[in-house]
Amino acid sequence: MVGTGCHMNKTQRLCLVLGDQLCFDLASLQALDAEHDTVLLVEVMEEASHVPHHPQKIALIFSAMRHFAEALQARGVRVQYVRLDDPHNSGSVPGELRRWQSRLQAQSLHLTECGDWRLEQSLKDCGLAIEWHVDSRFLCTRAEFSSWAEGKKQLRMEYFYREMRRKSALLLNGDGSPVGGAWNFDTENRKALPNNVRAPSPLRFTADAITQEVLALVETNFSSHYGELGTFDYPVTHADAQALWEYFLDWGLAAFGDYQDAMASDEPFLFHARISAALNIGLLDLRQLCNDVESAYQAHRIPLNAAEGFIRQLIGWREYVRGVYWLKMPDYASGNLFGNSRPLPGFYWTGDTKMNCMSQAIGQSLKHAYAHHIQRLMLTGNFALLAGITPTQICDWYLAIYMDAFDWVEMPNTLGMVMHADGGYLGSKPYCASGQYIKRMSDYCRNCAYKVSESTTDDACPFNSLYWHFLMRHADLLRSNQRLVMVYKNLDRMAEPKQQALWDRGQTLLARLDAGESF
Ligand code: FAD
Ligand code: SF4
Repeated sequence: MVGTGCHMNKTQRLCLVLGDQLCFDLASLQALDAEHDTVLLVEVMEEASHVPHHPQKIALIFSAMRHFAEALQARGVRVQYVRLDDPHNSGSVPGELRRWQSRLQAQSLHLTECGDWRLEQSLKDCGLAIEWHVDSRFLCTRAEFSSWAEGKKQLRMEYFYREMRRKSALLLNGDGSPVGGAWNFDTENRKALPNNVRAPSPLRFTADAITQEVLALVETNFSSHYGELGTFDYPVTHADAQALWEYFLDWGLAAFGDYQDAMASDEPFLFHARISAALNIGLLDLRQLCNDVESAYQAHRIPLNAAEGFIRQLIGWREYVRGVYWLKMPDYASGNLFGNSRPLPGFYWTGDTKMNCMSQAIGQSLKHAYAHHIQRLMLTGNFALLAGITPTQICDWYLAIYMDAFDWVEMPNTLGMVMHADGGYLGSKPYCASGQYIKRMSDYCRNCAYKVSESTTDDACPFNSLYWHFLMRHADLLRSNQRLVMVYKNLDRMAEPKQQALWDRGQTLLARLDAGESF
């Protein structure tokens, strides 16, 4: 068991490892002298509660931290571990760093770049001289991204992604051209799930003694946070995370390419990897994942659309959103292109809505702290965009509810990709869609109280009128967008009474949200 007892020996280097940095190769742990240096890990209330994080997310991080501390100790490293319920715990990361620097009379403090601007800033402002290390878990450093972005008014993920393909030499022919003759097979990633295709059942991990102790701690301290705790089944060690990954390689990846965008009732995971939380906290290694995927393709175990599609998410989107975050923070956080001011509807915290698609996506998020990308983008995200929700409120919701949510990855995805609140810096158009998209990509509409074929009646799918209402109310900002030309042509072709009816129905729905009603 990880002890909380204090090594009162003086230390040379004090290396603080944060809860999302649980990686043996972490830059700040390089050149560690096991005899004279100390690694510090701290469970603090400020990080666990600055938004009401899902209880499973807190459990994951604390349990993985405790397992990591044990693994370091087993390697002979001196570890100082501060538990949440330690009576001397100051409650904040800077507070604990200050306390331990003084107690161990550390000669130098070492820290790898944070995943959250707020925390990094508070550490930079806390009056301690910290030696910062570049986070080498990513393919693209902050500095490299910044020089790539320099002079560009708008960024495009596709061009960044090609750079990363070249840099990593993944899926490249000998002459540097992309395998398969194209950089991107996105159009082959959009199939709906046929009735006869079944997703593999998710691999579940049983809680060991450390995890059980953490689950009890979380239960006691975070019972007011939204989300179920009892369904926790996620890996908390490097070995178990590797098992989850290999399970995906064997059973999920081949179909990932085809059904990446599909959604299905009571199928929270489909052919998705479920590895984002493990990857983000350091239990998996990005380069190894990509190499495994490339090898599976070369061994003819998976088709190219699966290999390219998966690698694109990892070295394209994931690195790209991180680059944008560090380039644009802190101003990025206050982006609000459409001037939204509507509060987040209460049903986001309960799933209590008659819209079946939303109820499914929110329900599984509360149950598993997980939703796959299209549910986040085209259901909960799309609704927030159409309904004009305040960007900071929807960002805080995503940050709280998902096990994999850390500021650097959650915020650009939500504020930029979903809400278009950054004015189109990250993405070229808002991903707005009516119920027709949801009907095409899922079976949700079959069991919904609303009719997806209707737009203006009382029982019409809310997404339909809200979609047109959104386009009408922001026409001045969006009409000139080249990627929305066809959409506005369709709107212009619509008879005036139809436009008016859509507007009225949209107004009614928004007024109901303002009155605190669910629908
Ligand atoms: P898979 O679908 O199997 O994809 C494989 C991996 O690709 C993921 O594990 C992830 O590491 C990476 N990936 C895919 N898309 C993205 C993306 N857009 N940005 C970054 N990485 C990506 N992902 C997070 O890790 N943390 C977040 O807080 C987060 N917030 C999001 C918020 C919104 C509004 C949206 C639309 C997306 C968000 N994503 C976030 C991206 C994506 O939804 C999750 O990475 C994915 O659903 C995780 O599940 P998976 O491991 O099964 O992924
Ligand atoms: Fe969602 Fe509309 Fe379909 Fe209902 S009818 S499931 S609200 S898209």
